[in-house]
Amino acid sequence: METSNWHIFKDSIASVTEADALLAALNTEKLTSIRINPRKCSATSLPRVSWCDTGFYLEQRPFFTLDPLFHAGAYYVQEASSMFLEQIIKPFATHPIRVLDLCAAPGGKTTLALSLLPEGSLMVANEVIKNRSQILSENLIKWGYSNCIVTNNDPKDFSFLKGAFDMIIVDAPCSGEGMFRKDSDAISEWSPENVDLCSKRQLRILYDIWDCLAPEGLLIYSTCTFNEKENEDVVARFVSENNARCERVPLQSEWNVTEREKNGAFSYRFFPHKTKGEGFSVSVIRKNDGQEYVIPKRLQQAKSISFLSEKNTASFKNFVSGFEPIHFNDRKNLSWAFPLPYKDFLNEIASHCNLVHAGVPVVECIGNKINPLAGLAFSTNYNKNTFPSVAVDLEQAVRYFKKETLYLPDAEKGWNNITFNNTSIGFVKNIGNRANNPYPQEWAIKMNVDYANLPKSVIA
Ligand code: SAM
Repeated sequence: METSNWHIFKDSIASVTEADALLAALNTEKLTSIRINPRKCSATSLPRVSWCDTGFYLEQRPFFTLDPLFHAGAYYVQEASSMFLEQIIKPFATHPIRVLDLCAAPGGKTTLALSLLPEGSLMVANEVIKNRSQILSENLIKWGYSNCIVTNNDPKDFSFLKGAFDMIIVDAPCSGEGMFRKDSDAISEWSPENVDLCSKRQLRILYDIWDCLAPEGLLIYSTCTFNEKENEDVVARFVSENNARCERVPLQSEWNVTEREKNGAFSYRFFPHKTKGEGFSVSVIRKNDGQEYVIPKRLQQAKSISFLSEKNTASFKNFVSGFEPIHFNDRKNLSWAFPLPYKDFLNEIASHCNLVHAGVPVVECIGNKINPLAGLAFSTNYNKNTFPSVAVDLEQAVRYFKKETLYLPDAEKGWNNITFNNTSIGFVKNIGNRANNPYPQEWAIKMNVDYANLPKSVIA
C-alpha cells in the first residue's frame, strides 16, 4: 500500500477505534475456527465461540483438505466474528421463514442460517459470480439441508419476488480491511477510491433488493471492513431514504463486541484487538412497510426443470425421508428432491433465475439403471435403509474423496453407502474385485496424499 494511502487508512481506523492497538493485532497470528453441523455431529471439547452454540476455536490451522469430515459437511471452517449472525437470526426465526442470502458464496452465513432456521423454512442462496456459485452449491449440498435453492444472479434479477423474503442477508462485497491479517493482497489492493466505489456498490445492492423484503422483515447487512463509509454511512443513508429502522442487538459484555451508533445507524463491530475474531461489522435494518408476497398463478412450468409424476419416481422416492418431497429433473436429467410446499416458489425462481441447484440430489437414471448421486450421501435426509452401509477407515475415506478405486472385499455387490466416523460420505459400486467410485471429479482432492501420515480429524 502506498504511504499516503496508509495514512488515510490509519485515520479512517482512528475514527472508529484505537488505531495502534488494532494495527498491532492485525500483525499477530490469525485465529482458526470451525462451526459444526448440528445434524451431523455433536459438540466437541474444543473452546467455544461464545456468541455461537456450534462455533469452536482451533489451536492451530490443520490441513482441512485431508479431513473426510470436512468434505462431508460435518463442519464448516468459518471465521468466528461472522458466527455472530446467530444472535440476530435465532430470536427472529421463531417460526418458518423464507430467507434470501444475496451474496452467499462460499456459504459461511448460509450454512449457519440453515442450521438455525425452524422446520418449514426456505433458504435461497445466491451468488452473482458463476464459478463462485458452483463452490456455493458444492458446500451447500455437503451441508445437507433439503430446504435450499442456489441461484447465480445479479441482485436486481430478484425484482419479481416483491415482499417474498422475511429475511435478507447482504454480506456485501467490500474493501476487505478486516482480512488484512489473512490476506496480503487485501492490503495491497486497498485505496480510498476503492472504499468509495465499494460503498456506492453496497448502497446500490441494498436498493436493488429492498422490494423483495416483506413488511416487518429483517435485512442483515454486513461487511468485513472497518471504515465507516462502508458500514454506518451506508446503513444510515439507506434507512433515512427508506421506510425502515435500525434494530439493536443485545450483547453480553464478555464478548467485547463494540456497539456503535452514527446518524441512527447501529452497527456491531468486531475489532481483533478486542474481540476473538477477525474484523467484521453487522447492522440490522427492519422494514416498516411494503408489499406482502403473493405467489403468481403460473400455468407454465419453468424450462430449466421438469417436475416428475409419482409414477416416475416410484423406484427412488424412498431414497429420502423426513420431509414430503416433489421430485424434478434438471437440465442434465439428474433427479432432485425438494420440499413439496415450496414447489410453486421453486417454479417461480427457476422461471426467472439461473438455478444452480435446489434441494437434495438423488439419482441419475440411465435406461433402467438407477445410480445414486454422490451428493445424496451428504443429505441429512438420506434414507439410510436405501443401500447397504459399509464403514471405512481414514485412509479409505481420503481415497474416496480423491476419487480412487476402493477395495471392499466384505461389502455386498452393487451400490453401497460408505460411512466414516458414523457420517455418510458417499456411494461406491462394488463389482467384486473392486468398488467403482463415482465421486464428482470437480469435488475431488487434487493434491498428492501421503497415506502413511494422515492427520486425525479435528472433530473425530
Ligand atoms: N456470505 C459469504 C460467506 O459468508 O461465506 C461471503 C460473501 S463475500 C463477503 C461477498 C460476495 O459478494 C462474494 O461472493 C462476491 O462474489 C459477491 N459479489 C461481488 N459483487 C457483487 C454484486 N455486485 N452484487 C452481489 N454480490 C456481489
